Amino acid sequence: MLSDPRRNSFSKQDLKLGSFVKLLVKSKYTIATLGSHSALQILRGGKDEGFRTIVVCKKEHCSVYRHFRVADRVVEIPSYSEFHTAEDELLRENAILVPHASLIAYMSLDAVEKIRVPYYGNRRILLWESDRDRQRKWLEKAGLNLPRVYEDPDEIDGLCIVKFQGAKGGQGYFLARSSEEFRQKIGGLKDYSIQEYVVGIPVYIHYFYSVIRGELELMGFDRRYESNVDAISRIPAGLQEGIDVTYTIVGNFPLFLRESLLPEVFKMGQRVVEASREVCEPGIFGPFCLETVVTPDLKFYVFEISARIVAGTNVFMEGSPYAYLKHGIPMTTGRRIALEIREAIEQGRLEEILG
Ligand code: AMP
Ligand code: AMP
Repeated sequence: MLSDPRRNSFSKQDLKLGSFVKLLVKSKYTIATLGSHSALQILRGGKDEGFRTIVVCKKEHCSVYRHFRVADRVVEIPSYSEFHTAEDELLRENAILVPHASLIAYMSLDAVEKIRVPYYGNRRILLWESDRDRQRKWLEKAGLNLPRVYEDPDEIDGLCIVKFQGAKGGQGYFLARSSEEFRQKIGGLKDYSIQEYVVGIPVYIHYFYSVIRGELELMGFDRRYESNVDAISRIPAGLQEGIDVTYTIVGNFPLFLRESLLPEVFKMGQRVVEASREVCEPGIFGPFCLETVVTPDLKFYVFEISARIVAGTNVFMEGSPYAYLKHGIPMTTGRRIALEIREAIEQGRLEEILG
């Protein structure tokens, strides 16, 4: 069987640089993440940049990471809530932890705050992501188009989408046209928010802000495959009555955007980075995603921001067209994170990208 050249610990570029000292510094660190969401991509990216990698996962998930040989070590935990039991081991391995939605979904913000392992990214920005009012303040400061928010169900005067707190992947969201319909569907559920439903096509924009290079990069776009909303058009209109749609994420598709929309895409990302510095020093850095709906007049309405890697980037496991144009090699978001960490280590600037 042919050996995969990417499995070498150090890339050819490293060897060309000929800096043995740099290799030694890098080899002292390990990239670690929790086994779910975008872990395959993060770990593969870490290996592609020459790092040792560790995955922390529940017993039933371990075989996946062993199968794809992306982790040098697999650390088993009984449940996600017991992530802290792996921390001493991660500290011994000089690990840098790369967060993703599953880490945040399965641990409380408080528990994430207490993680002792060096953490890639600004963890305080998660407070701004997870609190809808703060998130809106941030996006408003960035001057983006946002869907209207109904503070009171009695204000509902058109089609709206009702969402629930936390990264639950669209589960349980529902649509309503009036306060009566809202009350009928909400039952006793709490912690909801009501947004105007913007009719257009959903576009998820993946960015990467590099602290080391001082530049915003476009990593790609995806659209989602959600159950059961993406199934409804398969049923004739006359038979759709009585089927309540919801938005549970099941998978993602890659998307290539109309090129004339790219200036607006960059402008929005840049404004989000600038506004983040005002709301939560030192601001957002690394990967983030603007979740948008594009209307027929080609306006982007931003209904959400994710302040870390999102799983939609998994569709570009061999690199997106945009990341390829920028880097000239298949550059995934996972690998881009590892590249940033590598450059930070080489330049003695690691503390600038940990938070
Ligand atoms: P999981 O570990 O698959 O249970 O996912 C935890 C959370 O991560 C979900 O509730 C979603 O919010 C998010 N997530 C996982 N996979 C995806 C995906 N493919 N696209 C978007 N979000 C996802
Ligand atoms: P989210 O969990 O916030 O990513 O949203 C899940 C799904 O709901 C996405 O696929 C969007 O298409 C849809 N969605 C969320 N907010 C809106 C909105 N304000 N208008 C239209 N669609 C939305």
